[in-house]
Amino acid sequence: MAGIKDYYETLKSIEINGKDIVSAGYVSQVYVDSGRLFVKLNIPQEFMKHAKAIEETVRRLFKERHNIQDVQVEIKPKMQITPPKLQTTSSQNIFNPQRIPGVKRVIGVGSGKGGVGKSTVAVNLAVKLAQKGYKVALFDADIYGPSVGTLLGTKGQKIRVTKEKKFLPVEAYGIGVISFASLLDEDTPVIWRGTMFHKVYQDLFFNTIWSEDELDYLIIDFPPGTGDAQLSAAQQVIIDGVVVVTTPQRVAIDDVRRAINAFLKMEVPVLGLIENMSYVIDTCGNKLHVFGKGGGDILSSETGLPLIARIPLDPEYLELSDQGKPMVTQEAKNENQRLIHQAYEEIASFISRRAGV
Ligand code: ADP
Repeated sequence: MAGIKDYYETLKSIEINGKDIVSAGYVSQVYVDSGRLFVKLNIPQEFMKHAKAIEETVRRLFKERHNIQDVQVEIKPKMQITPPKLQTTSSQNIFNPQRIPGVKRVIGVGSGKGGVGKSTVAVNLAVKLAQKGYKVALFDADIYGPSVGTLLGTKGQKIRVTKEKKFLPVEAYGIGVISFASLLDEDTPVIWRGTMFHKVYQDLFFNTIWSEDELDYLIIDFPPGTGDAQLSAAQQVIIDGVVVVTTPQRVAIDDVRRAINAFLKMEVPVLGLIENMSYVIDTCGNKLHVFGKGGGDILSSETGLPLIARIPLDPEYLELSDQGKPMVTQEAKNENQRLIHQAYEEIASFISRRAGV
């Protein structure tokens, strides 16, 4: 039976101005609800005059290829977030990012503010991709609250250095981990300046043996918001895309919008949004929106970015997570947990589809 992946393949055969609509990032959502297929597109304003023709093409293709009659197509203009030109010093551009030798794709995980579960998402995405057979490493760049060590149970383990002065990541759940925390004394207050970031990042990115052979994905857990860490990384390394984690509260929207715009200014593509702690299913099967509702949807329709997944909140998984047992390595014993697994499955598939290794 055809699934969402096949539907994306079908959408790929539609081109606007010589680019297929999937690769161009115009497809914001494809899902099935109550037997009906929903296809949501966000296209640049200048192509809106073709909206009717695109809608008809979508309907026709799904009818022809998948025998689906009931397709709900929604086409909206994409919010124009054109990144302003980067600041240049005299004639020299300060941005000269490079590929890390032996690393195929670099994916960042960011957030508007702390405490939304950004590190949890980075850790579980990395482990999930490794479970799918990819070679994965995680770079914990969140120096203000490095929690990757706690979430992976690697706290206190130090990065080893080879005779050739190369770093060797700590291993956990099939992924390699490099953390700022491993370089610092836990009680040392961190007062880092831009230049220090730059030097340490350069060392860690380019002097680490990320994998014995090629690494498929390097996931970066960025600090919340935007600052020197993001800037320094984007100046040195080609980041293939970031996902931004938010919670459903509407009050968080401004922070997330700022984070998205900062990434775009640095010419880092934003691939989509993840809404974490979206809801809890109680024992009677009711969906409780404990942290409010709507934040992810509003941001998605405002920015045209896909809402990749909504991850429920689960108190038992919170405890296990904080004991160093990532959610995706645990059995699902209730509906929340089952939906958390499903959400990470969706996020990992989205990444491999968009960043394609
Ligand atoms: P951030 O990196 O945004 O500061 P963390 O990833 O450190 O946030 O998560 C904050 C806390 O929330 C941690 O205790 C983590 O285990 C917990 N947490 C994150 N996501 C979930 C979830 N979906 N369900 C339950 N607990 C979660």
